[in-house]
Amino acid sequence: MKIRDILKNEEPHISFEVFPPKTDAGYDSVLTATQKIAALKPSFISVTYGAGGGTSRNTVNIATQIKNDFGVTSLAHLTCVSSTKEEVHRVIDRLKENQIENILALRGDIPAESEFPLPNHYRYASELIADIQKQGDFCIGAACYPEGHVETEHKKDDILNLKHKVDCGVDFLTTQMFFDNNILYNFLYRIREKGITVPVLPGIMPVTNKKQIERIGGLSGTILPERFRAIVDRFGNNPAAMQQAGIAYATDQIIDLIANGVNHIHVYSMNKPEVAGAIMRNLSEIVVI
Ligand code: FAD
Repeated sequence: MKIRDILKNEEPHISFEVFPPKTDAGYDSVLTATQKIAALKPSFISVTYGAGGGTSRNTVNIATQIKNDFGVTSLAHLTCVSSTKEEVHRVIDRLKENQIENILALRGDIPAESEFPLPNHYRYASELIADIQKQGDFCIGAACYPEGHVETEHKKDDILNLKHKVDCGVDFLTTQMFFDNNILYNFLYRIREKGITVPVLPGIMPVTNKKQIERIGGLSGTILPERFRAIVDRFGNNPAAMQQAGIAYATDQIIDLIANGVNHIHVYSMNKPEVAGAIMRNLSEIVVI
């Protein structure tokens, strides 16, 4: 099913994201986790893509199994920064062969110390999106950044670039994680004002362990509210407590979003069925399954 059709449903819905294994040896354990997440009956599951292209096969395979074996709509991410246009076309052909209808089209982070863009590569996600449109009947999603993308100095330029990207053929947007819902509400106001009208799925990251906290702390531009910092300070060294508090924080964010009329929420479940399951239980009377 195409995600743009799922998003026509106005009832609250949750979707999840998983990531493929870095090596084939990890395939079975990722698949087992994905199967458990699929059993929670999310509206769809997205599968990320290694920017280097190395895990592309696993992205396509997992997205195919989600759809065919677990009966859940899948969304395959596709990045283009490290691949030639021909290499990208081959992945699109594989998605078509496996009847995957939804692609999250991304540029990917520019690798350090590499020349960019290389000849016969796409420069921006918008170029990839325009090309995917020509390759088949896909529902196309793209990324957006409520706090601005790191490469763009002024947020208003980022929104103008986003408007151009959406006009190239985007059906829906998914946001980068954020920890203060007011950032999302402000962003929605600003993009709607610029004529970006496609559905926007807030990306919610349940922060449940120290490693994640360190990674997020290293991301430039992500605002960490006092309430979030207090939780990390108090529970960061107690794994079980941090997991419980992180799930509660994410649940709170989701309930506030739904209460404010945002009905489709994407949860970065990080291949953790226990976290995804706890969030779904917390929302059992709120979201549609
Ligand atoms: P673009 O939309 O191309 O934007 C990149 C930068 O270029 C922005 O600063 C933008 O403002 C600027 N720009 C765009 N168009 C123009 C223009 N015409 N002129 C001038 N400037 C322009 N990475 C992965 O490797 N794998 C994944 O699976 C993955 N999934 C993601 C999912 C989500 C929901 C999000 C939010 C990010 C994801 N990423 C993933 C990270 C993403 O690849 C990086 O953030 C990357 O740096 C930007 O990708 P993009 O598609 O947003 O790029």
